[in-house]
Amino acid sequence: TRTPLIAGNWKMNLDHLDAIRVVQKLAWTLQDAKHDTKDAEVAVFPPFTDLRSVQSLVAAERFDLAYGGQDVSEHDSGAYTGEISPVFLARLDCQYVLVGHSERRQIHGETDELIGRKSAAALRHGVTPVICIGETAEDLEQHGASAVPVQQIRTILADLPAGDVVVAYEPVWAIGSGQAATAEQAQEVCAAIRAAIADVRGAEAAESTRILYGGSVKSANIAGFMRQPDVDGALVGGASLDPVEFAAISRFTH
Ligand code: 13P
Repeated sequence: TRTPLIAGNWKMNLDHLDAIRVVQKLAWTLQDAKHDTKDAEVAVFPPFTDLRSVQSLVAAERFDLAYGGQDVSEHDSGAYTGEISPVFLARLDCQYVLVGHSERRQIHGETDELIGRKSAAALRHGVTPVICIGETAEDLEQHGASAVPVQQIRTILADLPAGDVVVAYEPVWAIGSGQAATAEQAQEVCAAIRAAIADVRGAEAAESTRILYGGSVKSANIAGFMRQPDVDGALVGGASLDPVEFAAISRFTH
């Protein structure tokens, strides 16, 4: 059984003072939720400059909330101006780190090979990579939905040592567009991704790997995704900036 993971990618929003306010409100709202079921693990991915504030707050208040960076260097230290070491993230108790987000691929030219090396760097230091994959609208038209994400995960996993990873399937056309994939579309691609993981890493690894859907997720559509057998959670962008909405997504309530 896989524990669902609801992850909030803040992208380049909310400074370290905003982060304190949002994390407090999120943690309190999650705690106050009227129903006493705790279905999902919840994580936030703030900008790097927020992480120390988030760490201090979560530790001081003992909030049941995971967090991580939005990117990581493939190197541990050295002359890499502007990069952030996986060692630094581990020292801030980051449980997770996003790697290969489509915005990193598109704006910064990240390749599957680099994303594989970044994932390996995170694993070396006990940080679980949340590996982002997904097809563009053009890929979808030319190859269907599954071909590109399946090829991406195969390439990324090819040289990656064993270790716990999370995969986030985010169709690029669904990101920030308000046009989410249907739950059935998400299920189909997530099942194909799981089959590819089974092929590369074996059935047991495929069974235990969490696969998230991302792209215009909100409290109004989360339940449909969570009903799918191969969708184990969500990677949420815009809707994660509002702590009350994100808490509702995290508890699959509307
Ligand atoms: P939206 O939820 O804003 O569509 O963003 C999805 C995303 O890119 C999360 O990483």
